[in-house]
Amino acid sequence: MIISRRDFLVSGSAATALATGSLVASDDAKAQAAQPAVEWHREADVVVIGSGATGLPAAIVAREAGSSVIVIEAQKHTGGHAICSGGNIPLGGGTSFQKKWGVSDSPDLVFQDLTDWSVVEPNGFPDYRYNDREIIRAFADNSAATYEFLVAHGVVFVDRAPDTYGGHSVGNSVPREMHCAPMDWPLIQSGQPADLARRATMSSGNGLMHPLEAAARKAGVEILLSHKMTSIHRQGPSSGAVTGIAAENEGKQVNIHARQAVIICTGGSTANVNFRRMFDPRLTEEYCGVAGMPWSEQDASGEIAGMAVGASLWGLFNNTGEFGSGITKPGTIGGQYGYVNLRWFPGSEVFHLARATGIPVKDWQDVITVNMLGKRFYDETGGPYTSNNYKFVDPYIAGSYLNAKNVKFKPNNYLNAALAGIGDGHNGGGPIWAIFDSDAVAREDWDPKPPNVDIDRGFFFSAETIGELATKIVMKYQRVPMPPENLEASVARYNSFVDSGEDEDFGKPKPLFKIARPPFYAAWATPVLHDTRAGLRINSKCQVLDMKGDVIPGLYCGGESAGGFSQHGLARATCQGLISGANAAIEPRRA
Ligand SMILES: Cc1cc2nc3c(=O)[nH]c(=O)nc-3n(C[C@H](O)[C@H](O)[C@H](O)COP(=O)(O)OP(=O)(O)OC[C@H]3O[C@@H](n4cnc5c(N)ncnc54)[C@H](O)[C@@H]3O)c2cc1C
Repeated sequence: MIISRRDFLVSGSAATALATGSLVASDDAKAQAAQPAVEWHREADVVVIGSGATGLPAAIVAREAGSSVIVIEAQKHTGGHAICSGGNIPLGGGTSFQKKWGVSDSPDLVFQDLTDWSVVEPNGFPDYRYNDREIIRAFADNSAATYEFLVAHGVVFVDRAPDTYGGHSVGNSVPREMHCAPMDWPLIQSGQPADLARRATMSSGNGLMHPLEAAARKAGVEILLSHKMTSIHRQGPSSGAVTGIAAENEGKQVNIHARQAVIICTGGSTANVNFRRMFDPRLTEEYCGVAGMPWSEQDASGEIAGMAVGASLWGLFNNTGEFGSGITKPGTIGGQYGYVNLRWFPGSEVFHLARATGIPVKDWQDVITVNMLGKRFYDETGGPYTSNNYKFVDPYIAGSYLNAKNVKFKPNNYLNAALAGIGDGHNGGGPIWAIFDSDAVAREDWDPKPPNVDIDRGFFFSAETIGELATKIVMKYQRVPMPPENLEASVARYNSFVDSGEDEDFGKPKPLFKIARPPFYAAWATPVLHDTRAGLRINSKCQVLDMKGDVIPGLYCGGESAGGFSQHGLARATCQGLISGANAAIEPRRA
């Protein structure tokens, strides 16, 4: 059973009005009179915007419940960030998978874990404190059902005990994370299936999303690719029911009528500079290496369209909390897209957009990182923010003040230093460059040439001297020239630290290697934006709420575009897909 009884217990006048139909009858009529009639080109009972981790489960559930469903997808392909993902998915609450491996879990334990105020990271940021209890309760109650749904719709999980590998914010009580096996599906990263030996044992979002697309099509869901939602139609500007959406397809506007509901599954806001800067003014244009791009883009279009018809935002702290991988350190350098767990290879259908595979950094002792002015800013071996996983707090006593008290304060400020700026009154840290020499290339076994690095667009430079290297760094986001004398001084001072064995400026543990043998290199190493943890206000049914806390009839949202839930990724998205799809399918059919 997907929707628990608790899910229906939405309090307030809007819920009562929905149940009795009075809101639909009275307010909608007034609102409709005020609005020009829309010329509809297509119609379905439920219109789902986005074909990622939220959208496809929502579509399948609504279709199997008897609604006709159209999914619109902005890209030429389905899958969203979910298909690019690692496929690590923490669903718990007593799944049959957990039972098989002897793990005892319950919805109450999931709820307790994900609302525990006492869990904090070593930098003092709390993972779960600001979670909306109603939304977490719905997740806890439907988490196990989501696992069973995925299995029933073709997803194959790696046959090993649940763990926390790749998990973020999965709670501290029991292991919940499972891994989607790609099996024979082609990997979108390379265009090829995974190695035969690893198909059933590795984890990949390909193993989640290819089967779900197949299941959606089999169920009779219609998927319209290259259709980008541009606005939501509502009977009145901020009153009445949502009636459908407008989308752009090949330069033309297509209006799609939704008789029952529209579900926003557009995946968040990390790629929209102005939107993301509402949370964090530092996140200016140079943070262009968003994880999951260029396969799909988190452009906040769902949030903006929802807000335009009156929706509220929710749980905004979670998007600026310094935990997880909202902002993270790149794992590969020398290309625009450097997310640590995603590389694009020449066989991928989006490689012409990604342009480089990137060179992976095995040891940050092999490089120094400098800002736009050619100055070091932190110990290069510093890591990104940490994530809360099973046994992260040890011993863990639910809700105990000791959890927070026992955490040894250890802020890791590499990212904050990288984002600090150069003191000229501008926001944003500007490009960060990894500087290294040919000895580092040999130690790392790099081949610093295309397609591994992106020279054409200015994400990679080389020169015979350090001064010349600085003068060559000219690209879109380098808004001031790098003074050659700065870079020369930074390298000389760092080399002296290698001699003395002590980094007097940033405490890098025993600097090991001089930067001395030409050619010298500068590779893009700017922080990467990854996921969104705040968005539209929803209730336990995933209905979108307005600024008064009232339900917007016929409008649903889930996944990264929804707020109130601090958890990375796939579990909350797929689960909210199920919840929103099931509830959308029992909406009244409107004319
Ligand atoms: C590289 C990478 C690795 C990850 N690894 C993991 C992991 O191992 N475990 C985990 O739990 N999470 C992981 N995640 C996060 C996880 O993939 C996302 O949180 C999840 O996919 C979010 O689901 P969603 O439905 O909200 O968005 P998405 O899956 O991104 O789907 C959104 C879809 O909406 C479409 N869309 C957007 N705007 C419009 C519009 N206006 N009109 C029409 N369509 C639109 C997009 O093109 C996209 O297809 C990873 C993410 C990335 C990028």
